[in-house]
Amino acid sequence: MSMDMQTENGTQAEIGENERIMLELVGVSKQFGSGKRLVTAVRDVSLRLRENEVYALIGESGSGKSTMAEMIAGLQKPTSGTIRWLAAAEQEANGRSRVQLVFQNPDRSLNPYWKVEELVAEPLLLRRVDRATARKRVEELLERVRLPRALLDRRPGECSCGQKQRIAIARALAVSPALLIADEITSALDPKTEADILALLASLKAERRMSILYITHRLETVQGFADRLAVMKDGAIVEAGEAEEICTRPRSAYTRALLAAGLFA
Ligand code: ADP
Ligand code: MG
Repeated sequence: MSMDMQTENGTQAEIGENERIMLELVGVSKQFGSGKRLVTAVRDVSLRLRENEVYALIGESGSGKSTMAEMIAGLQKPTSGTIRWLAAAEQEANGRSRVQLVFQNPDRSLNPYWKVEELVAEPLLLRRVDRATARKRVEELLERVRLPRALLDRRPGECSCGQKQRIAIARALAVSPALLIADEITSALDPKTEADILALLASLKAERRMSILYITHRLETVQGFADRLAVMKDGAIVEAGEAEEICTRPRSAYTRALLAAGLFA
């Protein structure tokens, strides 16, 4: 395990010049409750996200993935350790938002009483984009996430689960995040819809120089999609590195078990 952490904490030289670090977590822990009810959700996690990469965070239910996502998105504060945005000031100056989080359950982020047009336009209107421009941007965003224009006047209840995730992605993209966090967004989808969403995310990364923190409990789904990944267990990272390397030559027994479980599922 110490070897894995060394790789993760590698020197700038080893990372290369065109692979700039966007976000750095150093010794981040998060505890909930106290006394007998104390839960350590995240345990001394250090990692670096680069610009324009897909980083997958893999772990079983309860391993601390969503807590990590929420700390990075600024919705939770670490109990200890630091989270530092490195290229963020520059990005914000370019009018990009730093980070957007898309949840597993789209109903958590989509107001059921609003029309799709209003849902996707809201982040733009909050940024004082005028209505006509917002309308045009919404149409472009819908097209970009491959949703039919006919959906504009519908409400979330009239959309499929896959469509709702695309709406949530469009809403996140409206403010051009430097980092998109996708927390188990394909877990409720059938395999074909999941593959389509992964293809969409991959093309968005290429086109927008965006990084994606892709969270899932299914290691076998990220091969060929993630650039790097970390495997979490009980709040700690057990293995981290190049995705291809880990998927083909997992070092930890835990990672091997996760892979095997996925292959035989
Ligand atoms: P995952 O997303 O990998 O399923 P979570 O980050 O949701 O894991 O949870 C990690 C651990 O922290 C779990 O034991 C969970 O019960 C606990 N936990 C998460 N959020 C809270 C909270 N707000 N209060 C108390 N415990 C929490
Ligand atoms: Mg979770």
